[in-house]
Amino acid sequence: MNCEKYYLPATVEEAINILRENQGNARLIAGGTDLVLQLRERKINTKALVDLSALKELNGITENNGWITIGSMTTHQQIAASGIIREKARVLAEAAQSIGSPQIRNVGTIGGNVVNAQPAADTTIALMALDARARILTNQGEITKPVGELFLGAGQSAIDPTSEILLAFDIKTPGAREATAFMRLAKRKALALPIVNVGVWLKLDQTLSKFEDIRIALGPMAPVPVRATNTEAVLKGAPLQQTVLLQAMAVLEKEISPRDSLRGSAFYKKEMAKVLLKRAILVAVKDLGGELGE
Ligand SMILES: Cc1cc2nc3c(=O)[nH]c(=O)nc-3n(C[C@H](O)[C@H](O)[C@H](O)COP(=O)(O)OP(=O)(O)OC[C@H]3O[C@@H](n4cnc5c(N)ncnc54)[C@H](O)[C@@H]3O)c2cc1C
Repeated sequence: MNCEKYYLPATVEEAINILRENQGNARLIAGGTDLVLQLRERKINTKALVDLSALKELNGITENNGWITIGSMTTHQQIAASGIIREKARVLAEAAQSIGSPQIRNVGTIGGNVVNAQPAADTTIALMALDARARILTNQGEITKPVGELFLGAGQSAIDPTSEILLAFDIKTPGAREATAFMRLAKRKALALPIVNVGVWLKLDQTLSKFEDIRIALGPMAPVPVRATNTEAVLKGAPLQQTVLLQAMAVLEKEISPRDSLRGSAFYKKEMAKVLLKRAILVAVKDLGGELGE
């Protein structure tokens, strides 16, 4: 680490001004659980750090006019413990709860998890299933982007932490007949990165006998977190039947391309992605009182 300056701004405006003045030589730091390691290993270099931890406006979870807003500095622990998130966005509560260890969850933030841009970052997978929108402060003002558009490659975010600030995520409050679920496979329950993780949001039709709509997000199946849109297309409008699920799993197998890695072979990850998808769908359907026929 070779940092010369450390800033602790009191407002978002002050933070963006510091970034602007430093012209690419200062970088935002949130909980530091990813960044400090990257600085130590010299994978990232910066002359100055801009600590966001005093910015109360970036921390917390609120619900207004049909939208749930989560500040980028909200920690995984806050998300996992939030009544709003547990009740209305279960996929995200469970994803946050699965991260690292209590120490990591107490300091690691949802904003840092997304900007670090790993293909299986747990809250990212949940946010993609929820079709969350990210609010970002740029030099041109505030912009909004779907979370799915924030990933350019493994570890490469569309948000530049030397000039832009991720402010918050907005998620639509779920309506009637909508439910979510999160499934994760890892070598241990704590302190293990996922071999496969799957987030599902779905809506059933009025009779609770058909999938009206569905979103499926998975990691690590490519250099970036992915939505399984071909698999979603098989399920949209289809009846709640085991045979339909089998068709969806066959399409998923063709749609994803994980790689062999220390955590598991590509074959194993594909097989487990299919199993976890099925389990996630069954949990969400059951939550709504639906049942899968033959
Ligand atoms: C032991 C250990 C276990 C872990 N286990 C898991 C796990 O199970 N699952 C998982 O998904 N992750 C895991 N992680 C990774 C890490 O904890 C998360 O990615 C964490 O959420 C990062 O958030 P942070 O606040 O610490 O970000 P930081 O490290 O502070 O920042 C990460 C990146 O985001 C940028 N940044 C931060 N905030 C903003 C913002 N508001 N706007 C713009 N840019 C910003 C920073 O400049 C930096 O590039 C683990 C890490 C460790 C060390």
